[in-house]
Amino acid sequence: MNATVSIDGDLVPAGKARVPVFDRGFLYGDSVYEVVRTYDLEPFELGPHLARLTASAERIALRLPWSGERMERELRRVVQASADEAIPDPAAAPWNVGERSVRIVVTRGSGEMGLDPGLAAHPTVVIIAVPLSGPPLSAYRLGVSVWPFGGPGGPSRGGDPAAKTGEHLFHVLAVREALAHDAQEALLVDRDGRVTEGASSNVFAIRDGVLETPPLQAGLLAGVTRAFVLGLARDLGIPVREQPLPLEGLERADEAFLTSTVREVLPVVRVGNRRVGSAAPGPVTARIHAAFRERAGGGHKRGKVAGPG
Ligand code: PMP
Repeated sequence: MNATVSIDGDLVPAGKARVPVFDRGFLYGDSVYEVVRTYDLEPFELGPHLARLTASAERIALRLPWSGERMERELRRVVQASADEAIPDPAAAPWNVGERSVRIVVTRGSGEMGLDPGLAAHPTVVIIAVPLSGPPLSAYRLGVSVWPFGGPGGPSRGGDPAAKTGEHLFHVLAVREALAHDAQEALLVDRDGRVTEGASSNVFAIRDGVLETPPLQAGLLAGVTRAFVLGLARDLGIPVREQPLPLEGLERADEAFLTSTVREVLPVVRVGNRRVGSAAPGPVTARIHAAFRERAGGGHKRGKVAGPG
């Protein structure tokens, strides 16, 4: 595996990187995590990512063993130690070539088995850097499909959506369902039929020139990219409404897109079996992604997201 791994501050060969079977992250999903990406090997929006890691840890009463400075130092060390031996991918979006995706995982550590979090005294910090593999350029030019999961009467998620924790089964099953329908992302739909977010992304719709996205109170992760894009939209003079987004509202939108650290701004052209707008990436989405490309730092100017063809 082409990965560079640090466990509790030690670089370990990827093939030998192991945590004990008594680790509570493994046994109970008792962990928090972040995924950061680089541009020109420089971590992007690291401050907001580390702030969210701290917030997630606070929400599950996990004491982070390291300061933000130590976390940043180790993350940079892992990025520097990582070599990009990935086989060149001609389909890759140019702004992802040679970049890294870095996962930080902090588990509550190992101890006697039992749900009591007090059974583990020392949290474990794992940092894994891998070559970034985002959506192919064609996904930006043609748009992607998303598939709804959950909804009234369907399975419902547990846990705290605002904390980025290791509890992932609902998301795993949602993505499984999406892939089975040839969709690239799952849409998490709540009991009231409202879209909250994607399995690993935030969701936006554009209707009559207004950018709509569910508010944080709807029960979703405060995406770092979501916040960045809301800022861009305000700078571009695009009106923004943070309001509940019923599934039908998304299906009837003029345009839709997803945001996440590794996807940036990814047009959505199909929701379930329904086309969104003209089933092609829309002009407002294109404007927002172009602004993102301009601002995203480092080798950000590589590659234009021109329309289809
Ligand atoms: N929602 C969920 C459930 C996620 O896992 C992610 C990916 N971290 C996002 C939204 C998007 O967040 P970000 O823009 O910070 O990557």
